[in-house]
Amino acid sequence: MFKGNSTEKTLWLEDRKVYYTIKKSHRAKHLKLQLSLESGLEVIVPFNTRLSFKQIENFIFEKQRWILRNVQKLEQLLKQARSFKDSIPFLGEEIPVKVKESNRKTARAFLCSEFLEVRIPSGKKKLIGKAIKEFYKKQAREIIYKIAGRKARQMNVSFSKISIRSQKTRWGSCSVRSTLSFNWRLLAAPRSVLEYIVVHELAHLKHRNHSKKFWLFVKKFCPDYKEQEKWLHKNKHLLKARTSFD
Ligand SMILES: [Zn+2]
Repeated sequence: MFKGNSTEKTLWLEDRKVYYTIKKSHRAKHLKLQLSLESGLEVIVPFNTRLSFKQIENFIFEKQRWILRNVQKLEQLLKQARSFKDSIPFLGEEIPVKVKESNRKTARAFLCSEFLEVRIPSGKKKLIGKAIKEFYKKQAREIIYKIAGRKARQMNVSFSKISIRSQKTRWGSCSVRSTLSFNWRLLAAPRSVLEYIVVHELAHLKHRNHSKKFWLFVKKFCPDYKEQEKWLHKNKHLLKARTSFD
């Protein structure tokens, strides 16, 4: 009988070894599968359901076609995520990366007309990722500051400071002292998504909750905010994977 809250297991589907985690959930109503870049394959078991491993395995076998198809998709996504040396996502566009070795001691990335040029000290390929991350952060400071300034005027709110962070799970936040924080990874999303997050945090300067009034205020300045939320929800793992340069 499966007792703990989270257990890791493996099994073979066709000729493939598949890793999965069994997780108990208070929210789940039915036994279900979940697949993500961060957690891989998970079998979600409703909290008060008693199931044997055999029953869980049978459930997985029933769904094996779905699993194999999606595990493959996920692997492609991961491969894409690792290929940041070829191109990076930037405000909804895919920008090719060109690496040049130089005599400089430090690495630097900057935008040329149609590509991102990364200059690295000769032989120091490891610095490419670091330079790209710095590029994103610098762009985030400039672009988010501009958007926030413009939107704040429209919304008639004022903030004291903006900080750019590398949070793993949050896109933005608004402190009681009216400091806004944004995740530089948002620069890898389309501009409309970035603008929505800025409007969302600015709206918290007026409504410090997620009340109906808050959402009406957001909607006034970002009428399609639901689309942007949906995009973020759907692409959050990809966004994180594609902005992981370590
Ligand atoms: Zn919020």
